[in-house]
This record gives sequence, C-alpha cells and structure tokens, in this order.
Amino acid sequence: MEALCLSSVSASASASSPEALLHSFNSPWELKQVHAHLVKSKAPLSSLPLPRVATVCASSRAHFLYAHRLLTLVHGPASTTPLWNSCLKALAEGDCPSEALSLFYRLRELDVLPDTFTCSFVLKACTKLLDLDNGRIIHGYIEKLGFRWNLFLENTIVNLYGLCGEMGDARKLFDSMPQRDVVTWNTMITHSVKRGDIDRAHGYFVRMPERSVRSWTAMISGLVQCGKPEEAVQLFREMEGTGMRPNEVTVVALLAACADLGVLDLGREVHEFSDRSGFKKNTHISNTLIDMYVKCGCLEEARRVFDGMEERTIFSWSAMIYGLALHGQAQEALTFFDRMVHIGMRPNGVTFVGLLQACSHMGLVDRGREFFAEMTRDYGIVPEIEHYGCVVDLLSRAGHLQEAREFIENMPMVPNGIVWGALLGGCKVHKNIELAEEAIKHLSELDPLNDGYYVVLSNIYADAEQWEDVARVRKLMRARGVKKTPGWSSITIDGEIHKFVAGDSANDWIEEMSLTWETLLGKMKLRGYVPNTSVVLLDMEESEKEKFLSRHSEKVALVFGLIYTKPGTTIRIMKNLRVCEDCHEAFKIASQVTRREIIVRDRNRFHLFKDGICSCRDYW
Ligand code: ZN
Ligand code: ZN
Repeated sequence: MEALCLSSVSASASASSPEALLHSFNSPWELKQVHAHLVKSKAPLSSLPLPRVATVCASSRAHFLYAHRLLTLVHGPASTTPLWNSCLKALAEGDCPSEALSLFYRLRELDVLPDTFTCSFVLKACTKLLDLDNGRIIHGYIEKLGFRWNLFLENTIVNLYGLCGEMGDARKLFDSMPQRDVVTWNTMITHSVKRGDIDRAHGYFVRMPERSVRSWTAMISGLVQCGKPEEAVQLFREMEGTGMRPNEVTVVALLAACADLGVLDLGREVHEFSDRSGFKKNTHISNTLIDMYVKCGCLEEARRVFDGMEERTIFSWSAMIYGLALHGQAQEALTFFDRMVHIGMRPNGVTFVGLLQACSHMGLVDRGREFFAEMTRDYGIVPEIEHYGCVVDLLSRAGHLQEAREFIENMPMVPNGIVWGALLGGCKVHKNIELAEEAIKHLSELDPLNDGYYVVLSNIYADAEQWEDVARVRKLMRARGVKKTPGWSSITIDGEIHKFVAGDSANDWIEEMSLTWETLLGKMKLRGYVPNTSVVLLDMEESEKEKFLSRHSEKVALVFGLIYTKPGTTIRIMKNLRVCEDCHEAFKIASQVTRREIIVRDRNRFHLFKDGICSCRDYW
C-alpha cells in the first residue's frame, strides 16, 4: 500500500496540469473536477493519489461505485484490495467503525476479494462496536476464504466472542483451532475470569504450554476478584519461583489481595518490590497501597504514601478520607476534605462514605445530613446503599432513632443487613426495645444464620432486666434453627497466616497458651474485667460459659500473638464476623495490661485498642 501511494505521488509530481486540487481534493465532487481535468489534458489516471480516491468516496454508495470504477481502470479488477484496505483501516481505527463494516459489505457486493488485512480491519471494527452479529458473519467469511491458518485473525475472533460474553462460542473456536499461542490462552483466561468462571480460567492456566506475565497476572487478579486472596498470594509465590517478574498490574492485584487478607508483611514486601522496580510514580499503585495500608490497620504508612505522591487523584484523596474515618480520626478526615475541595478536586461516592462515617464517629449529625444532601445537590452523585447505611448509623448513634427509622422507610432501595444493623446498634446504646425488635425482624430475614444480632437483642433485654424475653430470644433462636456462623480469626506472624476457629481449639490451644491466658486473665480481672457471659446464648453452667468465652477465636489469636511476637509489637488480628462484646471489653483491658496496641479488623470496621480504650468508642 505504501509503495502504491508513493508511486502515485511521484507520478503526479511529473504531471504538470492538474493544479493544487490534484492532491488536496476533499470530496467526490472535487475529485470529479480533477478527473475531468485529467481526461481533458490526456494525463494518465494513475497520477491520481489513489488511496485518497478511496477515502473520499468510501462512505456513500454512489460515489463508492464511481471510485471503484476509477481504481479498477488503473489497477485492473484483481488488485484494488490494498487500496480499500487502507481505507478500511482508517475507518475501523477512527470514530466511525460502523462505516468500515458498510464499506466491507459494498466490497463484497462487487466481489472485491478480501485478504487477511481486510478481515483484520473489519474485525477490529466489530470489536470496537461489540458487534456480535457482524462478527459471526466475518468469522464465516474467514472460514470460507480459508484463512483459518491466520492465528491473529482467530485470536481476534476469540477475543470478540469473549468481549460479547459468548464464552460458548469462544470455547468452541478455541477448541477447534489448529494452532494457538500465548495470546489465545491469555484471552481465554481473561474472559473466563471476567465472567467469574475462575475454575475454567484455572483450567486454561494449568494446560497452557508456556505462560507470560500476563497469564500469571490475569489469574492472580481473577482470584482476588472472586474472593480468593489466599490463593492469589499462593499463586504469586509460584510465579516468583519461576523467576517471572511481576508487572504493574500484578502489583496492583497483589496489593488488593493483601488488603483483603490484612497481611501487612506481604503488603510491605510488595511495596518495596514496587519501589525497586521503578513503579513509584504509578498513581494507580500508590492508590492501591494507601488502600492496602488502611485495610491492614497501618494508617501512618498510608499517610506516608499519600504525602509522597507527586500527583494525586480523587481515589487517593477518597482512600485517605475513608481510612481516617475508619480508624477513628474523624476530625482529620474532615480537614482532608477541606484541603481537597480547596485545590479543586471533585469528590466521588467513596469520599462521601468516609465523610459520613467521620460525622457518625463525632456525632456531627447536622454536618452529616448536610453532606448527604450536598453529594447529590452539588456533585450529582446518586447515593448508594452504603451512603444510606452511613446516615442510619449517624442518626442511630446520636439517638435520633425515630428519624433513622423514617429514613429507612423512605430509602429508594430495599434496606440491607448493614442498614438494619446500624439501627439495632443505636437501639442498644439508647435502650429502645421496640425498634430493636423491629430491626431484628428484618435482620433475621436478611441474614437468618447470623446469631450476632440475637445476642445484641438478648443483651438489650438483659439490660432492661426483662429476663423472660431473654429466655424467649433463646427459644426463638432454637426454633428458627439459627446456627452460629463459624467465627474465625487470623494473625500473621513472619509471613505465615495462622487461623483459629472458635470453639475447636483442642489442637491450637497448647499448654503454653493456657498459661499465658490464665496469667493475662488474672491481671485483667484485677483491673475490673468481668467475663460477660450474657453473650453466650447456649444453655450451660456459668463456669462452662466462661471457659467457652476464653476460646473465642479472637482471644485465641491474641494469646498466640502475645507468645510469638516480641514485647511491644502491635498485634493485628482479622476476624470474619463482628467482634463480640466480651472480646471487645477484654481487648481494651488487655491493651493496657500488656502495653500492646491491638488492632482488630472485623467484618465492619477496625478497632484499635490502646491504653484501655478502643478507637470505635464502643460503638460498632
Ligand atoms: Zn468474643
Ligand atoms: Zn472497638
């Protein structure tokens, strides 16, 4: 094509007659003028810039036929394809890919024979338009024309099917392909992951003859996305073993896995690797680092990353505001927001989750209401269920329970467990039995197997000395068959995750742990700790209940941490459910007795226990 183009230019340079228009005609009409001029001056038609002839006439049927006649006159009927290809390419890559398709069908009507380039440009247009129907037709042509040997074309079709969600077709083609390369396999992995079919993705990953960084990265991010961060980390270790170097996308996926797992050690390791690899300026990585440090309970390091960034996006600011609120530094979160607005950054939905949480923590009810109104009025952000949850939390904590109740009623979506849970939390603090019962009614439908809510209700009754109701809740739990979601807690020591499941600690609870626990318990009792056996809703002796309490998974993890980490180090524990009230009380006193900071990340939030107080201020 290039050669053709050049020759036509040089030919026209020697032709003297057709003035300026010859190389600058912009419409079929101008072309016709030039054409007439050439005929009149008996200049050869080949002096026309032929690619331009094609381009100018491609988009209308009548002009197309005219141009086709011209080109055929110059080149003969068999060799106009390259000229049209350059035109197709420009259309497919430009703003009107659908014109490329129309042109392709016009060429088919005139029996201009497509070559592999033609097909690749038309497929490109289909991919851009996510046009499955035309994609299928082109696929048919390709088979008919005998281009199946062309791996690039086949890969493009597999990708198109994947993009359109037609994994069945993608697989069928994949299975029948005479040859495949790493791109083919990666395409199958990527699309399987996108469809949430991680098992199938893994199947491809295992079978592929050789893997690129992209293959590993696609699998690692896939595992993170479908909630298998542990396996993601494991796969990363394998990748390291092969000597393959992670790229920036791998780093982002890994950091997300670390955030999910709360494994600070690995997170730090990835951070160092990232800096060493020169990814320091990658804003996306820095934002993920902030999120990772926030979720691993390391606010200062999140702050350090934020401060060190050359360029910050709304995600950087939102992650910090959210982190500050999550860690109980509400005032600082609001200050951050002011700074952000001051430099002209527009907040997003996540920013407002952080802001509303911050207001909630400080009891700033009016400011919180204002933020909620502001987000839609000033920034056009449609509130999502998280925002509604935050407002209910804000109102409930501050004791505006009736308002919270009405707010829930007026929500445009069905309230979820978090919304009702927030109301229940407020009912507990402000001792509102009636609304608590209503909240429980909804919670037991939304989350029937979670016994945590019943414990709260039973405690509300116990507080009000309504013992019959306490008994009734237990009976209800039995009748409804509420089973305890198995609670587990984990602690990472020297890169290894130790997981403890509540109750079944026979194997974990070694003698040294008993000793450590008894000593700690003795000291805690001297400081006024009384085991809160009311959180145990099982029928058993009081002393049994106490023993049962001491085997709560977070306590086992704490004891384990006290034994296996150096004195003074912060202990970080992850829990899959919310922390129970007894453990919460115990941890507050334990932080004082052991002079350790204890950070517990439970299902909803962070608790930083330090010198006898928790950052959540006993509301969670
Ligand atoms: Zn507990
Ligand atoms: Zn707390």
